[in-house]
Amino acid sequence: MPDYSQPQDGDVYLEPADLQGSLGLALKVDRVLHHERTAFQELHVLECGPLGRVLLLDGIIQATEFDEPAYHEMLAHVPLLTHPAPSRVLIIGGGDGGTLREVLKHPTVRQVELCEIDGQVVEASKRFFPGLAVGLADPRLKLTIGDGVAFLAETQERYDAILIDSSDPDGPAEGLFGEDFYQSVKHALAPGGVAAALAESYYLYQDLIRDTFAVLDEVFPHACYYTAQVPTYNSGLMGFALMTTSAYPLSPPDAMRVGELTPLRYYTEAAHRAAFALPRPALELLPPRIAQLQENIFASGRGGLAGLADD
Ligand code: SAM
Repeated sequence: MPDYSQPQDGDVYLEPADLQGSLGLALKVDRVLHHERTAFQELHVLECGPLGRVLLLDGIIQATEFDEPAYHEMLAHVPLLTHPAPSRVLIIGGGDGGTLREVLKHPTVRQVELCEIDGQVVEASKRFFPGLAVGLADPRLKLTIGDGVAFLAETQERYDAILIDSSDPDGPAEGLFGEDFYQSVKHALAPGGVAAALAESYYLYQDLIRDTFAVLDEVFPHACYYTAQVPTYNSGLMGFALMTTSAYPLSPPDAMRVGELTPLRYYTEAAHRAAFALPRPALELLPPRIAQLQENIFASGRGGLAGLADD
């Protein structure tokens, strides 16, 4: 668990820094609305001016009302629009409900299971983040409070999409990043299934991204890395992994299906395509097969990603 100072009313709160302690975010805290030590982590809810309410777990920013749509919409819509008609979806982590809210916007989705290790995150979200928690009362949801690693190892269900909405790999989420876990994700996918996972910023987590994609390249027929601009994550961006068992991962989204996803506050078809176009510091971390695919993303001459599907 990282070492951090306690947020106080009216103070500047410094999030534990990355890059060997050299780069971190500061929050101007108006009020500490809630603080508890759960069985798994320390949980704070802060009020921070234009950022709105902020959820911290073990001192690390998990979500702010200001920019949470960027993270949740990109984690949900990129994989779900890569699948032709997702019906059964599993979310691991994500107890705040933000990813769930986005998944439930897809009209093909009939059932969502969510496995969150810490029931207090769910309770805090219902109490302090109604905009995130909105889907937690939906009849299509089956909620399990438990460890996602054990859940996946034991489930007999097969899912069209599995979304790993975990925290950083230093606390209870550690087991959600290794090869065994990704094997169990693949095993729990139905034929044609897709998965997405938090894969961190290429500026801050180089070793993790290198190791993760080396594994994903072995485990899945296709894996790609994509990013979203999220100013309240250190370095201003968040990375994700998209894994598919058969669908081509760089397929352009279907405009009709995007039109059904309302309201959207970050996601656009163009942002979906552009999210896979990577600069050098990201490409350098990926195995050659994946880097080559993503480096040549616009090389078809047909003005988009579609041409690559024939390569
Ligand atoms: N986007 C966020 C971030 O990285 O800052 C993550 C948000 S979400 C709140 C992460 C959730 O994953 C937390 O509520 C945490 O309790 C949950 N989690 C961590 N480890 C888990 C595990 N092993 N199984 C299930 N949920 C887990």
